[in-house]
Amino acid sequence: MQQWFNASLQRKISGLLVVLLSFLFVVILYSIFKLKLISAEMHEVAEIDVPLTAMLSELEMMQLKQHLFIEQFRLNPKQARVELKPEQAFAAQREALKALLDKTELVLNKSLQQHQVRFAAAEHQQILVSIQQFHQQSDSFEQYLMSALQQGHTTEQQWLKFEDEATLLDQSMMSILRHMEKLTLEASRYTDKHQNEFMLVNTGLGFCAFVIGLYLTFYILQIFRRRIGRIQAEIKNVQQSIELGEPISSPVFHQPDHQDELTELEHDLKMMVQRLSLEISNRQEIEQQLLVLATRDKLTGAFNRHKWDEQLRMELSLAERGGLFSIAMLDVDFFKKVNDQCGHHTGDKVLQALTEHISRRLRKTDSLFRLGGEEFVILLPQQKAEAACQLAEMLRQHIASLEEPGLPQFTISFGVTEYQQGDDKDSVLKRADQALYQAKAMGRNRVQLG
Ligand code: GH3
Ligand code: MG
Ligand code: MG
Repeated sequence: MQQWFNASLQRKISGLLVVLLSFLFVVILYSIFKLKLISAEMHEVAEIDVPLTAMLSELEMMQLKQHLFIEQFRLNPKQARVELKPEQAFAAQREALKALLDKTELVLNKSLQQHQVRFAAAEHQQILVSIQQFHQQSDSFEQYLMSALQQGHTTEQQWLKFEDEATLLDQSMMSILRHMEKLTLEASRYTDKHQNEFMLVNTGLGFCAFVIGLYLTFYILQIFRRRIGRIQAEIKNVQQSIELGEPISSPVFHQPDHQDELTELEHDLKMMVQRLSLEISNRQEIEQQLLVLATRDKLTGAFNRHKWDEQLRMELSLAERGGLFSIAMLDVDFFKKVNDQCGHHTGDKVLQALTEHISRRLRKTDSLFRLGGEEFVILLPQQKAEAACQLAEMLRQHIASLEEPGLPQFTISFGVTEYQQGDDKDSVLKRADQALYQAKAMGRNRVQLG
């Protein structure tokens, strides 16, 4: 059974078909065997039934004649003796009867010897026995008749005896007829029974074949529907994830119950989905990295000039529709000195520390951009200049008081400005730059509003 489950679909279906065809083959064999049997039985029955039925009517006729003869003899024995010559009449009647009964015996014996009698063997024997009894009774009657005729007259006592003998003879003939009737009746009952049995068994077997065929068809359809349904669901999930741009969830690999083409297809599909899922998540990671590379400054991690241009353009278009924003430009004071005294590498570290400290103190909506060198700008959406100045002041103080191991102390200057109607990307930046210039001019480490 396990082997069958693991076999290929083609072998599975072939196996089921072999079962069905074998069953049908058995049904056909059974039908042929039964039909042959029934045909033999019909033949046997016909061999007995047809001649016996003919003989039955002949015997009935003879019995009638015998009745007539005895009746005449009884009514007027003297006249009957003269006119009918009873010994001759009885002898002729007996001859005819004997011939007919011999024929009957022959048919019955032939049937008993040639065929293995399939039905009513006892009835066959009973007819033969009653024929023998009839012959004995007939002998006795004949003897009595002859002695009565030789005496020439009949006493009352003899007459009663004659009537008894005649009744016995009649009864033994009746017995033959009854048994023959019983046999012919038995014959038709026998064939009817077998025909009905044949019809019943064949209808039953045909119905079984139909049910097996139907069950197998549904079973095969069920296998296809369930397993292809699983594959379709997997494909649908992948399609949905791709449409929604979501990561494709990795498929769950079950230990398969059996191995066939559909299981292999399902497994291949899951492998493909797994690879696709990995590929897509790799691609998303690369896209994310590319985005970082495209928008962030490599040294400090702050947003770069390209991102600044894009973000400023967006804020300007929002501000034109009634919004507002501020910017705070900042520059490290005497940075050249840092580079000169501590080295370019330390200068880099100063820029990184500056970015980190400022970024940590910004609101989520504010962003820090490195415009170039040691020049940065903070974008504060929906903030007035006062708020920007407060933030700048807080940052200035924090940086001025910073003591980082391995880094020199340094200060920063701010030039702050707010969006004004009619501003473009150059004018707003220029204003902040001028304010920064003023802050520098006024002694550095300070915040100047522009
Ligand atoms: P000021 O107070 O007027 O701003 O004086 P300053 O010395 O800071 O003058 P300025 O802003 O003109 O100096 C900029 C210097 O910053 C020049 C350059 O060597 C240095 N610099 C620019 N980019 C980098 C960088 O990426 N790393 C390092 N270490 N130094 C940089
Ligand atoms: Mg400087
Ligand atoms: Mg500078």
